[in-house]
Amino acid sequence: MSPQPLILKFGGTSVGTPEAMRQAARVIARTRREHGPVVVVTSALSGITDLLLSSTRAAAQNAAFPGREQAVERILGAHQAIAAALLPPERRPAALETVRRRVETFRRLLDAIAVLGEVTPRAWDAVASLGERMSAPLLAAVLAAQGIPAQPSDAANLIVTDRAFQNAQPDLEASTPRIRARLHPLLETGITPVVTGFIGATPDGLTTTLGRGGSDYTAALLGAALDAAEVHIYTDVDGVMSADPRIVPDARTLPRLSYREVAELAYFGAKVLHPKTIRPVVERGIPLRVRNTFNPDGPDTLIVARAEAVSGTVKAVTLIRDLRLLTVEGRGMLGVPGVAARTFAAVAATDTSVVLITQASSEQSITFAVPAEAAEPIAAALERTFAAEIARRDIDRIAITPQVAIVTVVGAGMQHTRGVAGRIFTAVGEAGVNVLAIAQGSSEVAISFVVEAEEAEAAMRAVHGLTRA
Ligand code: ADP
Ligand code: ASP
Ligand code: MG
Repeated sequence: MSPQPLILKFGGTSVGTPEAMRQAARVIARTRREHGPVVVVTSALSGITDLLLSSTRAAAQNAAFPGREQAVERILGAHQAIAAALLPPERRPAALETVRRRVETFRRLLDAIAVLGEVTPRAWDAVASLGERMSAPLLAAVLAAQGIPAQPSDAANLIVTDRAFQNAQPDLEASTPRIRARLHPLLETGITPVVTGFIGATPDGLTTTLGRGGSDYTAALLGAALDAAEVHIYTDVDGVMSADPRIVPDARTLPRLSYREVAELAYFGAKVLHPKTIRPVVERGIPLRVRNTFNPDGPDTLIVARAEAVSGTVKAVTLIRDLRLLTVEGRGMLGVPGVAARTFAAVAATDTSVVLITQASSEQSITFAVPAEAAEPIAAALERTFAAEIARRDIDRIAITPQVAIVTVVGAGMQHTRGVAGRIFTAVGEAGVNVLAIAQGSSEVAISFVVEAEEAEAAMRAVHGLTRA
């Protein structure tokens, strides 16, 4: 048996129902038997973080917030269903007590937010963290009921972060001694820690979160701090695939992927793995695998430092929906200094991130993609910024398209390879899809193009035909 622990992280869908949590517990039991010590990291039950955050938003907008009790019932119900299915009656009250306490905290926080009529970033994280603070104790109770000694561990005691609430940056150096001091004694006595994913705390103890999907990051940080044998990210599909299997049914598992490719995939919509995750483990040479909880012996993905790029290979296709394109155009733009800088300064002032930019070589227009709901306010901001130029007709107009999607083709083998773009756009053209804009990813391992929302899936399937593992 290896003395180095394995880190096993389970995503929301891997713990979200009684069947899922039973299966996760099976994977944990088997890994312990076959490998030895494991540290479990869990997400909130699927849908719970979304529900916590949408309730928070609703409470800030409307103090009466009619959906509140419904939200509370759903949260309680999801956890109770698991306790009822997987715990013997005598263990249920203790296990559900934690859930009830968290739900009380949730109610109190909603009250405070409703009174204030606004949510501070700190309050967001106080609410957002509750999902994992319910799922981890429940999963620990389920393991204990199956004879696996387990103890929940709140990552606020383990992971030190900065004060950037909602997207906090962990300090691995400061966290490592805490992680070791808390988890080594458990592991040495054969107890399996069940750590809340997603959560950290500032040095003075305020709860922070690591960004949506951040439980992967928690697993990686623990892996690095404990010098883990491997880190396994368990999800509901067979690893990282050549496309989202929900959209492209014949998507295949990618057996090896570099972390740059993963970052590119995540940035362009395939959020199967939190990109920041990979760094701490890959840099230490700790293998990181993405596996399917529901098919644990099936194919999986190993994340490596550098992919052996096979020239010309397209590996995967991703999709980002719900965008609109904005274009600043005008024949007089050529002579106007700093149009691009002023455009993006105006966009930044609306607190929106731009997903993709293209500029016509003639410099007569700049086109960029933004989340659909941000498009109108940004257009208004640009009209203010360029009021003088518009009046002079140097800039003709700020145009907005209907909804579009970005399809991105990813693969390190595309770097410096001629003909890849040709093959991509031939395939898209043959599928009868009209391409509205094109951009090359910053890292050169991706090519993105914009299509109308209705044509997105057809475009994806067309380019998926070019992928090879
Ligand atoms: P978890 O809750 O386990 O963290 P996520 O929802 O974060 O799971 O990620 C898994 C989901 O990512 C899958 O259910 C799948 O639909 C979606 N997905 C999108 N693109 C891909 C891809 N290229 N490969 C695998 N899954 C993908
Ligand atoms: N529960 C958090 C989220 O939904 C973190 C995670 O699942 O990784 O974003
Ligand atoms: Mg995830």
